[in-house]
Amino acid sequence: MSQIATSTTTTFSEIAGKVTEGSRIGRDEARWLWSNASDEELRSLAAMVRGRFHAPATCTYMVMRIINYTNVCVAQCDYCAFYKLPSQDGGYVLSQEDVFAKLDELLALGGDLAAFNGGFNPHLPLSYYCELFAAIRARYGDGLEFYALTIAEFMYLADHAKLSYSEAAARLKDAGVRWITGGGSEILTEEFRARHSKFKYTVAQYFEAQRAIVEAGLKTTATMVIGFDESLEERLEHLERTRQFQDETGGLASFLCWTFKPYFTQIGGIEITTAEYLRHLALCRIYLDNIPRIRTSVLTQNEQALGGLNYGADDFDLPIEDEVTQKAGATISLDFERILNYARELGYTPTYRHVSLGQPPWVEV
Ligand code: SF4
Repeated sequence: MSQIATSTTTTFSEIAGKVTEGSRIGRDEARWLWSNASDEELRSLAAMVRGRFHAPATCTYMVMRIINYTNVCVAQCDYCAFYKLPSQDGGYVLSQEDVFAKLDELLALGGDLAAFNGGFNPHLPLSYYCELFAAIRARYGDGLEFYALTIAEFMYLADHAKLSYSEAAARLKDAGVRWITGGGSEILTEEFRARHSKFKYTVAQYFEAQRAIVEAGLKTTATMVIGFDESLEERLEHLERTRQFQDETGGLASFLCWTFKPYFTQIGGIEITTAEYLRHLALCRIYLDNIPRIRTSVLTQNEQALGGLNYGADDFDLPIEDEVTQKAGATISLDFERILNYARELGYTPTYRHVSLGQPPWVEV
């Protein structure tokens, strides 16, 4: 792997030359690209890096469902429209039967991946999670895969159970868990966490937990959310920490960035434009030269997310539910063909990407 740039490169052709020869760009160059490069210039560099991992006209997708198993949460992030405090009306916890019904519906719609995402619920013991995940594995075997929790929930769960991250990861693995994703990261700077989410975790704790997950033999991913009040420097710090973690562990299977939905949240605000999102995706692809799979977010950008395929992305979800983002304004379409046609019109051939180890007979490849 090439060294991080320390020079003060200031022209596009110089940066393009480095990317072309496979050298890594640093923060100064990323800052320059963001501030000065045209959309076409960003697209061309992102396509070049994408081409090192994927054939030009190909992309992959999954039909998936986020299962929000509880909305009770004590973290009180000010950008969240989803949670209820333990003392508030409207809190819920899904039973195993509730979860099975959602999984059955996912399979009927042709999906084979569920992701669990809920609140920091102080009334849920570790046994709730272990029994739920073991029951899913017993009922569905390898015909369905699930992302069990985000790292943020995993950290809370471990602390609440008075376990180290390593011990908690081992317990979940014994229950049949294979994935704990990098969700709940938003912007990974201590300043962002202090401004918006001071009860959730520190960045140092986040990476400590993710390292324990990798070392336990579980798979994980990287995520990012933009469009709050984060600065360019904070975005670049997030990318730098992610790239460094991947250099050190090689444990990140993919990187997904989506955009903040502000509706009904405490901080409010207005959404960033799709154009800004696409430029950021391109920067992610160029900067994260050690993560093969860069994903674009249909959940928060709808069909416009498919434009991300021209800005370095190679993969996307077709989600059927996520209460967290839907509460804050996200809309979901089950007309998968209509969305896939956007990719085809851009010249890509979308192929279903199975995360489940078994081959569900109901999914067309
Ligand atoms: S974003 Fe997650 S951790 Fe933060 S308040 Fe909402 S449910 Fe809780």
